[in-house]
Amino acid sequence: MTGYSKGVPPAAARRILPPFAEEHEELRGSLRRFVEAELLPHADEWERERWFPNDLFPRMGELGFLGLKYEEEYGGQGGGYLHDAVLAEELARCGSGGVAAGLGAHITIATPPVWKFGTEDQKQRYLVPSIAGDLIAALAITEPDAGSDVAGMKTMARPVEGGWVLNGSKMFITNGVRANYLVLAAKTTAQGGHGGISFFLVDTEQPGYEASKIEKLGWHASDTALIALGDVFVPTENLLGELNGGFKLIMANFQWERLSMALGAVAAAQHCFELTLAYAGEREAFGRKIGGFQAIRHKFAEMATTIEAGRALTYHALRLFVDGQDALREVTQAKLLTQRAAFDIADTCLQIHGGAGYMVEYGIERAARDARLGPIGGGTDEIMKEILGRTMGL
Ligand SMILES: Cc1cc2nc3c(=O)[nH]c(=O)nc-3n(C[C@H](O)[C@H](O)[C@H](O)COP(=O)(O)OP(=O)(O)OC[C@H]3O[C@@H](n4cnc5c(N)ncnc54)[C@H](O)[C@@H]3O)c2cc1C
Repeated sequence: MTGYSKGVPPAAARRILPPFAEEHEELRGSLRRFVEAELLPHADEWERERWFPNDLFPRMGELGFLGLKYEEEYGGQGGGYLHDAVLAEELARCGSGGVAAGLGAHITIATPPVWKFGTEDQKQRYLVPSIAGDLIAALAITEPDAGSDVAGMKTMARPVEGGWVLNGSKMFITNGVRANYLVLAAKTTAQGGHGGISFFLVDTEQPGYEASKIEKLGWHASDTALIALGDVFVPTENLLGELNGGFKLIMANFQWERLSMALGAVAAAQHCFELTLAYAGEREAFGRKIGGFQAIRHKFAEMATTIEAGRALTYHALRLFVDGQDALREVTQAKLLTQRAAFDIADTCLQIHGGAGYMVEYGIERAARDARLGPIGGGTDEIMKEILGRTMGL
């Protein structure tokens, strides 16, 4: 399906679990080879530099990985969400949560609103070059005073001749420094809130746009930005979706974002588990392999059970989602279960590594730091519980 398959032997056999089919497993093989050859070997360096090269976008574009679910007429691969699901799983094995997050933000949260709600002209100007990797995208919703409470955003878009002028700030925006454009939410009525927010395609080259990189606990290779908007002009033709219809855009992609996070978390936990199992089979203490201690064996038994349960729930939610059914409850449960579990598993893996787990060299401390974002990003665990409570009529 993609350029990376050419001349490369098929991937090692893996039990195919529904909803995936043979074609998805072929894609998995291509992705895994790409990740192992072009991402994993550089993960340490990019983490140290706190940046991965922008060139990765055109490289991924060339291989077809930025447009798996998009139509061929836009340069996509004509696949569907299941292809992107495989991508989310395989990127999670790249050794750097920051690289997976930066690429994932472009593919999973920033370009889908352009695809779903963009005019033909917007798709030609933004989606097509994003699929090729010539433009880098970011989604900007969160603000310093409005995270979980999206409706509390203050950034204001004021109508002027020929378009809009934006003033305000955005916080924690993945790809905010490197992005060529933002898919950005702003108030378009004085009240804002559910009926007063709209989306805009904002070119970051516009005067008045300033992005600064924020230091953080994990995801070091990614760029997380604080953005200041001072009289940034946006032309009329860059209003994305309906005026004051921004909440619809936000809600439209939430489920896919959360499902992708669940898929990524299970895959990352599995990867950490595999590395640790290998370590426990080699490391010796008191004259035997540490994996031979019952206390350690039980940790593996528990982790394997948690991973399997997380995967089963996530695949169940994925099946419902791709079938077009209402999957709100299952997606929310999958996000809630897998994000904390991935962090707990990385922490247990760190413990099994002993002192080595605390060292940068083994990559386990990074896995734990990176996993800590899961219960916060894309809607916190507390918000997931609120949503679930509401589905129960509470
Ligand atoms: C590394 C990173 C990357 C990010 N990337 C992006 C991005 O690309 N684009 C973007 O728009 N945003 C991004 N975010 C923002 C992210 O989505 C928010 O951080 C998240 O939604 C939480 O919002 P907040 O940080 O403002 O926390 P707050 O909303 O201030 O929450 C603080 C605490 O209060 C709790 N809380 C809030 N409301 C309730 C409630 N009703 N009931 C119970 N508890 C509650 C929360 O669960 C949390 O524990 C990113 C964040 C990080 C850390």
